[in-house]
Amino acid sequence: MAPATEGGNARLARMRRHPISSTLFGLAILLLVALSWFAWTFAPVRLDVPQIDVGPLPPTTPLASMAISAIPTGTYETPAALAFRGGSWSEKRAFAATGILVRHPKGNLLIDTGFGRNVERQLTLLPSLQQSPHHLGTPIIDRLAKADADAITAIIPTHAHWDHISGVDDFHGLPVMVNDAGQRFIDSHGEGTEVLNSFHGVTYRTYHFDGGSYLGFPSSHDVYSDGSVVIVPAPGHTPDSVVVFVNLPSGKRYAFVGDLVWQMEGLTRPAEKPWMMRFLIGEDRSEIRTAIARIRAATKLYPQITAVPAHDGRAFSSIAIYPASTR
Ligand SMILES: [Zn+2]
Repeated sequence: MAPATEGGNARLARMRRHPISSTLFGLAILLLVALSWFAWTFAPVRLDVPQIDVGPLPPTTPLASMAISAIPTGTYETPAALAFRGGSWSEKRAFAATGILVRHPKGNLLIDTGFGRNVERQLTLLPSLQQSPHHLGTPIIDRLAKADADAITAIIPTHAHWDHISGVDDFHGLPVMVNDAGQRFIDSHGEGTEVLNSFHGVTYRTYHFDGGSYLGFPSSHDVYSDGSVVIVPAPGHTPDSVVVFVNLPSGKRYAFVGDLVWQMEGLTRPAEKPWMMRFLIGEDRSEIRTAIARIRAATKLYPQITAVPAHDGRAFSSIAIYPASTR
């Protein structure tokens, strides 16, 4: 052991003689540790989610003429590695920008609007990091038959981010349904609300979570009082994020989960978004984890419920594309 100790002493003496090189050595070690940690934040780690009791399947009595359609308006490109932990850097995911038309005898609804007519101009309001390559389709306003458009009574955004509300600008005067937290988020003019706040004359219709617990979520709002469209709070991605449950006369049910997860893997593995994306957006990790657990538990216990992340085109596959309809 003596030679090693002598070697160690010699190294120490050298470091005392060359303090700059020892500082650089320390910084290099720190950098290596930081880089290793950063790389690990993209690694496939299964998200640990709590056990949730979602209770009985909520009753619903939708009218027979109720139906839904999906209206794609375009896509934007994101590496899978940025969409969920464990995704590949070489695999590109086309993030869907799709709105849902709910036809209901008491008035039609739009859940999210996808890209509107002015999306190119709206994109210039965003930080350059968020301006991914995109493919623009036809905006909802230009696809809807007049009768369907005239029958829309409100827009329900899953949250206020640009890719969900871009088309609000095309429906002048149509009420946008927001909860109290949503109104506060929009009024704060905080990051993520730039595009919505750039629109003139938006009419907000505030709703309250005045209903009881719903599939594990603590409260709810029944839009038509018939159980067919029920909104629950799911803050985490943004303070105003919601899940919209749509329950059809056929017994088929959908949970439009917005950006709770960006791709199905977020729910199926489950896998959270990479740390960098959560950090940049300012997500509340604990809220997201709990909401993922609730949706997983609900869809496992009640297979008639399909969860639909807003940006995963695969999740919309069982919903007819407009103008056809699913019952
Ligand atoms: Zn989004």
